[in-house]
Amino acid sequence: MIRIKGKAVSPGIVMGKAMLYNSTQDVIRSEKINEKAIEKEIWRLDNAVKKTQAQLKKINRDLQKVMGRDSALIIETQYMLLKDSHLLDEIKTKIKSNLINAEWAIKETEKKYLQIFNSIPDLSFKTKSNDISDVLSRLVDNLKKGGKFSLASQSGQVILVADDITPSEAAKLMSHNNLLGLVLNKGGETSHTVILARTMGIPAIMDTVNATEAVANGDQLALDSVSGEVIVQPTPAVIAEISVKSEKYQIYREQLKTLSQLPELTRDHHQFHLHANIELPFESEMVQAYGAKGIGLFRTEFMYLDSRMSISEEEQYLIYKSIAQNIFPHPLVIRTYDIGRDKSDISLMNREENPSLGLMAVRMFLKHREPFKIQIKAIQRANISGNIKILFPMITEIEEIHAIKTIMAETREELLSEGTYPKKDVPVGIMLEIPAAVRLIKHLKDDIDFFSIGTNDLIQYLLAVDRNNSEVSYLFSPFHPAVIHILKEIRQEATRIGKEVTICGEMAGKCFQALMLLGLGFTNFSMNAMAIAEIKRVFTQIHYSHLKKIVSQLDRFSSRSEIEEYLTESLLKLYPDLLIRQRLF
Ligand code: PEP
Ligand code: MG
Repeated sequence: MIRIKGKAVSPGIVMGKAMLYNSTQDVIRSEKINEKAIEKEIWRLDNAVKKTQAQLKKINRDLQKVMGRDSALIIETQYMLLKDSHLLDEIKTKIKSNLINAEWAIKETEKKYLQIFNSIPDLSFKTKSNDISDVLSRLVDNLKKGGKFSLASQSGQVILVADDITPSEAAKLMSHNNLLGLVLNKGGETSHTVILARTMGIPAIMDTVNATEAVANGDQLALDSVSGEVIVQPTPAVIAEISVKSEKYQIYREQLKTLSQLPELTRDHHQFHLHANIELPFESEMVQAYGAKGIGLFRTEFMYLDSRMSISEEEQYLIYKSIAQNIFPHPLVIRTYDIGRDKSDISLMNREENPSLGLMAVRMFLKHREPFKIQIKAIQRANISGNIKILFPMITEIEEIHAIKTIMAETREELLSEGTYPKKDVPVGIMLEIPAAVRLIKHLKDDIDFFSIGTNDLIQYLLAVDRNNSEVSYLFSPFHPAVIHILKEIRQEATRIGKEVTICGEMAGKCFQALMLLGLGFTNFSMNAMAIAEIKRVFTQIHYSHLKKIVSQLDRFSSRSEIEEYLTESLLKLYPDLLIRQRLF
């Protein structure tokens, strides 16, 4: 038995078999074949095509079940590519005329298509190149005897152990429903992989450094992501201990659920509002059960990446309209695609030296406007129930806001002339996550209706610390005096121009961080649905007047550790039950 320590980033206690996951692609080599082998090579290719088609069909069915109808598009496009005999004919011709193995012929064909598509500035062609790459690498995997590892083909549930995985890989793996837990060597607490795990309620620990070396495929694991450890090959005594802990944890979660209907008031009747963040449309169906009064952030980029960026206005319209109607009368805040940085398909984007400072989100879509226009139009059109708001990420300068408003006016005109513009305009908000944008607030009285603070990026850009890099995670602190200062500035500036502010970064769902935000005067919080009950438990237990007094003292300190210590100790002195979760387990 070995115990591996890590950082608990998505709570839960589970036991299951380990599955080592390595996302790196195998190297493909060119091999010469003789004429007699041509027939065999083509037979191998045809077999791999059949296998790939069958897999795509199954994935399509599974995805539909878990993620809804809209996700089917991803796979259907790829299926059609394989039906297109032109692509396959080209691969076969290469095998015959160049006398090369099927794997190499596939890679050569892929190279040609990628060169053509990437030379066309229109973003939708880059989308197509991504589909080709995805389906052709699946084909190459299926040429191998036994095929490649696929979580979808696993029977039973597994705990995935990996160095790190990208958010798009994570979304695919999680959609198969047989992922029990996640153990990562690396990772970042506010990385989108971890955010997805939290939303899906999948227990996860990260920063284990060497879990992939200490664990073998098929090992029995006990993952305790309440205390932050994974136990490899636990003894019967430890299994019994973990089972008891797991049961207690389940009871605790059930008890939390009962809080979901309590009024959103502190003990001294100070009002607050708790909303949910969602990443994929199907999540909207469960957020109200967790006590969310509305959706404060719909990160639509996951849907965009899922659909391989080919999601039409009509499809988006239907999705947004139905979520808005389900959540009515509460608000639905739809954030336009925030792709780029870690939320991109590497094969799709031009590689940038420094993607976190590069062409991303609104910046990218003001250059390649078509998908952006389609999304904005779909959002405006879907606002039939009148509770939709639109939110733009990664705003740096006022020129971007003006450009966006021009597009919105154009799409509004188009919809009016088509007779499909609903009665109500959608309120417009921007994310405050690039520190420079905070200085714009006072100029935005007439342009912007509301603000949303993305503390994950705000901290990343303010402190110059990569939110995904565990090497510098100690610096990623919401308690840094500069973070507190900028939050105060936002609060004051927004109040001065009379606009609403919501906090939608991970800080909103963490006990002491959220309490600090409440004490700083914020009242709207949006977080992963699983965190809502816990935050409600904590907020309804305290007096706002006490909290405000404690938080007003934080200015005295110059270091993040002193601030954190002062805040937690002062609060625990007044409310010893705040940390009930930690004491229970
Ligand atoms: C943030 O930056 O805090 C945020 C909410 O957006 P995302 O995590 O999607 O970048
Ligand atoms: Mg952000």
